[in-house]
Order: sequence, then C-alpha cells, then structure tokens
Amino acid sequence: MDGKVRFLGTGASLGVPLVGCKCPVCISHDPRNKRLRSSILVMVRGKNILVDVSVDFRAAALANGISRIDGVMITHAHQDHIGGIDDLRAVIKTLVRSIPMVMSKETAEELSIRFHYFMHWFEVKVLEEKYGEGEILDVPFRFISYRQQEVAVTGFCFGNLAYVTDIREYETSVFEYLQQIDTLILGAIHEEGTHMHFSLDEAVAFAKKTSARKVYLTHLSHEINHEKKNSELPPGFELAYDGLEVGFAFR
Ligand SMILES: [Zn+2]
Ligand SMILES: [Zn+2]
Repeated sequence: MDGKVRFLGTGASLGVPLVGCKCPVCISHDPRNKRLRSSILVMVRGKNILVDVSVDFRAAALANGISRIDGVMITHAHQDHIGGIDDLRAVIKTLVRSIPMVMSKETAEELSIRFHYFMHWFEVKVLEEKYGEGEILDVPFRFISYRQQEVAVTGFCFGNLAYVTDIREYETSVFEYLQQIDTLILGAIHEEGTHMHFSLDEAVAFAKKTSARKVYLTHLSHEINHEKKNSELPPGFELAYDGLEVGFAFR
C-alpha cells in the first residue's frame, strides 16, 4: 500500500504574499513564493485524507481540483489550521455517513466550542495518549505530541513519512517515533526562529536527529525566498511549495 502527499499550502499563519507587503518575496512571480496556509492531502487506497483544514482550504481545493474528502486529521486548533472547517460542507454534503476526524483530546475540546454547530457532521476519533497508533478509513497511522506554547500539537506518520508542523517544544522521546521514517515534512518559519516555530537551522538540526533521508520544510513566511533559500539547504533538505507531491510507502 503506497500513497502520495500533496502540499495544499506551505505558508505561515498569515500566508504569502502578506497583505499589503511589497517585499521581494511578496511581489515575486515565482509560484513557489505563493503560499496558502499549511495543510496536506494524503492520498492512499483511493481515499483523500486531509491533514488540517486551513483557512485557505476552499482556495486550495479549487486549485487542486479536490471534490471529495473522506477523512480529516487535525494537528492543533490554531486558526490557520482549522479556519476552513466550515468550507468542508462543500465536499462532505454528498456523503451519507459522517466522516472521521482524528485529533487530540485538547484539540477536540476546542473544536467542540468553536464549531459547536457543525461537529455533528464528523465522527470524532480522539487520541487519548500522547504517542501511539491509530487507523483512519483502514489506513494505519502513528502519532506524536509536542507543544507550541500553551497549545498541544499532534504530528502524524503514514508509513515511512511524517508530518510534524508547528513544533517548538518537544520531549526527546519524539525521536524514538521518528526513527522508522524516510521522509519528514517539518515546520519552520523564517531564517530566525520564534517562540512558536523553528528557524531553518533549528529545523535542520531537529531533522538530523531522525532517520529521515529526505526532509521538506513547510509553514514558511514571506522572509523565505524559495529559490535562494532552497539552494542553501544541506543535501536531502528542500523547501516545500504549494502543489508539490511526494510519495510514501507502508512497509
Ligand atoms: Zn500554524
Ligand atoms: Zn512580504
């Protein structure tokens, strides 16, 4: 069982270009410098599993010709990762049954307040532990937990690929769960880090402690000029961009 991941968005919480900004990246014509808010589509066994419903979900679905979502997984309840949940009505209305939505207990509590009028559309599957394994639509996954200040964040692994974004504080035990992977999609933000996100260098240092041979950095701000920064990364590292597709495998 092999699958593919498509990046629907690779931008930081305000997206790129930034409204009103005239910096070289924001006015660039390079499509890789246009970043919707971060989210991926996992395509496996004919199913479309959306990881995060970014505030740009509608635009991303139109740009990528997505007409059906079978399952949803949420990393955490910050607006850039959940703001498009209302727009899921367009892709789930034709389904008879509710669709599975996987998330941590903390995320589920937050969504039950923010989307109280809408969560009955979903079959919420709460991850009670910090680390472990689960299944969505018969697709196995593993998960890890870490923090972004006061918010709990979940990272997901599908076969030999892991999606770990919005990471700042973590226990060293996360690395035990990232030793079976070949591909790591990892969040960073600017050249410099913040109290919420890794810098590019911090992301590289983190990734080197995992078994990943190929690393894609995502959740990037307008300070990151794709062509320039991509060429400066060490071997095996790349900046992700909207529309990029990468494969993965279950062993
Ligand atoms: Zn974010
Ligand atoms: Zn800018």
